[in-house]
Amino acid sequence: MAVNIYTDKDADMSFLEGKTVGMIGYGSQGHAHALNLHDSGIKVMVGLYEGSASRQVARDAGLAVGSVAEVAKEAEIMMVAIPDHVQKDVYRDEIEPNLGPGKALMFAHGFTIHYQFVVPPPTVDVLMIAPKAPGHRMREHFVEQGIGVPCLLAVHQDATGNAKNIGLAYASGIGCARAGVLETTFKDETESDLFGEQSVLCGGVTALINLAFETLVERGYPPEIAYFECLHELKMIVDLIQQGGFNYMRYSVSDTAEYGDLTRGTRVVDDHVRENMNRVLDDIQSGAFAKEWMAECDEGRHNFLRLRQEARTSRIHEVGRGLREMMPWMNPREIE
Ligand code: NAP
Ligand code: MG
Repeated sequence: MAVNIYTDKDADMSFLEGKTVGMIGYGSQGHAHALNLHDSGIKVMVGLYEGSASRQVARDAGLAVGSVAEVAKEAEIMMVAIPDHVQKDVYRDEIEPNLGPGKALMFAHGFTIHYQFVVPPPTVDVLMIAPKAPGHRMREHFVEQGIGVPCLLAVHQDATGNAKNIGLAYASGIGCARAGVLETTFKDETESDLFGEQSVLCGGVTALINLAFETLVERGYPPEIAYFECLHELKMIVDLIQQGGFNYMRYSVSDTAEYGDLTRGTRVVDDHVRENMNRVLDDIQSGAFAKEWMAECDEGRHNFLRLRQEARTSRIHEVGRGLREMMPWMNPREIE
């Protein structure tokens, strides 16, 4: 199933002309979207809560700033760039009361719409532009090289008949249409994003590293050596994989490493893991994970904070801290 890919030539900027884009939030995504749109000649107003330190930062960058409610009233198009777990309350209290018919409500991730924590009225457009890079990288590329990062576009609700055109113009304004706009759905983006971060990017990779590290340490190998072999060197391998796929990585490593890879990899990550991945995906598809996480947030995050603290004081963390100090060139960052 190939996806549709759009670029700048498919974008008609008249869908943003004369309109105000309200940027709700000025964090990783919000600041990059707001500044790129501003540089593209589009009128932007940033919405933040009273007392946010980012208010002044946005003002200093030459942007108009107001409360979320003020921005929701003023803007015809709004990008909800606040953390997913606060979107439900902010939407209910400040956005919904000001969401007149024909406005467009945009998201950078489908979580709250797909799992119906936010249910906009049928009179507004609901769409997603989700850049496939952290906001700071996106801004950097835009300013320094004049290039964009690819993004996903999805339309959940098309009240005006223009939702997709608004999305394409927005993608062009933030620079993403210079690279490519991939058309998807809220369901596919949300579920695949959660699955990716749980099974590989965050959950899978840290569990794999930690288990390999612990295996070596329990069998008497020095933790420092185990750290280098199982954690530190991963970046070099991942860089090769990102640059040229598995083939380029295997071409670059020794034949011994490649033979070990081809004969042992699927012994470590075997059909049990496939089974586990399917169970993790079941919870994502059924909404069980989303329900659990939002309940955790509503109930004060006690379980989450305990798990975070336990992970921060694990053996691999203690060993790593000392070793990273020896490598100042990689700009070590310690979170306690
Ligand atoms: P973030 O960096 O944590 O920034 C959140 C912003 O929202 C901050 O400016 C914060 O204010 C503000 N904020 C927090 N609570 C608020 C409230 N109650 N009312 C108004 N503003 C509030 O968030 P993010 O990572 O950019 O994520 C935003 C969205 O983009 C999410 O849907 C996320 O899934 C999606 N996304 C993120 C990335 C990424 O690379 N981070 C990539 C793709 C999509 P302060 O400035 O005062 O803290
Ligand atoms: Mg993601």
